[in-house]
Amino acid sequence: MATSKTFDMGKKLPVSGHEYPDPMTTVTLIPGDGIGPEVSAATRRVVEALGTDIEWEIHQAGLPAIESHGDPLPPHVLDSIRRNRVALKGPVTTPVGTGFRSINVALRQELDLFASVRPCRLFPGVTSRYSEIDIVVVRENTEDLYEGIEFEQGVAETLKLRGYLKYMHGFVVGQDAGLSVKPISISASRAIVAFAFELAKRQRRRKVTIGHKANIMQFSDGVWLDAGMKLAEEYREVGFDAMQVDELAMWLVWHPEELDVIVLPNLYGDIISDLCAGLVGGLGVAPGMNLGKEYAVFEPTHGSAPDIAGKGLANPLAMMLSAGLMLNHVGLQKEARRLEDAIARVLAGGKVRTGDLRPDGPPATTDQVADAVIEALA
Ligand code: ATP
Repeated sequence: MATSKTFDMGKKLPVSGHEYPDPMTTVTLIPGDGIGPEVSAATRRVVEALGTDIEWEIHQAGLPAIESHGDPLPPHVLDSIRRNRVALKGPVTTPVGTGFRSINVALRQELDLFASVRPCRLFPGVTSRYSEIDIVVVRENTEDLYEGIEFEQGVAETLKLRGYLKYMHGFVVGQDAGLSVKPISISASRAIVAFAFELAKRQRRRKVTIGHKANIMQFSDGVWLDAGMKLAEEYREVGFDAMQVDELAMWLVWHPEELDVIVLPNLYGDIISDLCAGLVGGLGVAPGMNLGKEYAVFEPTHGSAPDIAGKGLANPLAMMLSAGLMLNHVGLQKEARRLEDAIARVLAGGKVRTGDLRPDGPPATTDQVADAVIEALA
């Protein structure tokens, strides 16, 4: 029988000295858009089949919320998460050219969800180029190029900034260039690297690898790397190495077993966590969570996949595995393990799988996968 190791971080957030508030069993559920409603409905069915006390408070965000409230992230959705402190969220689309900033980035900033954690584990039965992978990607979630300090090409304020950069610092920026600013602070770097070390300690992991590009961006990635190196001194019991992010990408596809916990600034973390999802079977099986000192939002790594939305083709396992992380977080470890073991059994069985997992026979639908997981619950 295939069994899985649950990703249990205990009830406390892995930040030194911080007590996480008592876990809640009312959970805000944001189905999202695109494939979100389908994978959320499947996940809800599976969690309900576990017979837990979880009660859902369902709210829309993304495209459905723009239609109903003219706002992709209405204040009542944030209020609900603040009240319940835990949310399970499907993917949401930020429509391009409508003036809305990224909903995911806004949510992380509003709730100060500074840590994104993406466990990448290879389940037996999933087709992959590798035989064993167990990597955790920890991504800083609040600053870097995703902070949204953007200057549009050709507009007056950008031209003014361009003039300032030339006058004050001698930097020549092309007249037709747009600009994005990359802030990296000592405090945010220390917070996320400490989080990664605490997580490694708690889960008895071998080492933490910090990814950077400090040779090119001395004053942003330089701050990041310096904070990481100093913290490593305080966590001598955990192994540590620093690696340029391009070299890290090479090692990940060449010898992923060399990596364990990887901590990255926001942009590199986004890219590397998709790369790691690819190592373990793709976005359909890649769960994730965003944690802050007060709130936790669990969500799959994948986006809304509009190409397959509404067709019953989406793989719900990433969302179900995210629900498993959520169950662990609210103290329902036994149920989390049952859920993950059931998913592992379905994957090991090899019969019921959606098209993204390259089945031998006809692909299963989203609902058929949910049925199989429910049947496999011990
Ligand atoms: P975002 O910018 O929001 O991350 P994206 O367009 O980069 O989104 P995704 O929506 O995550 O990417 O997905 C990329 C492709 O991977 C999709 O078009 C889809 O074909 C496939 N995919 C993603 N998630 C799933 C899933 N759960 N099941 C099956 N296929 C998926």
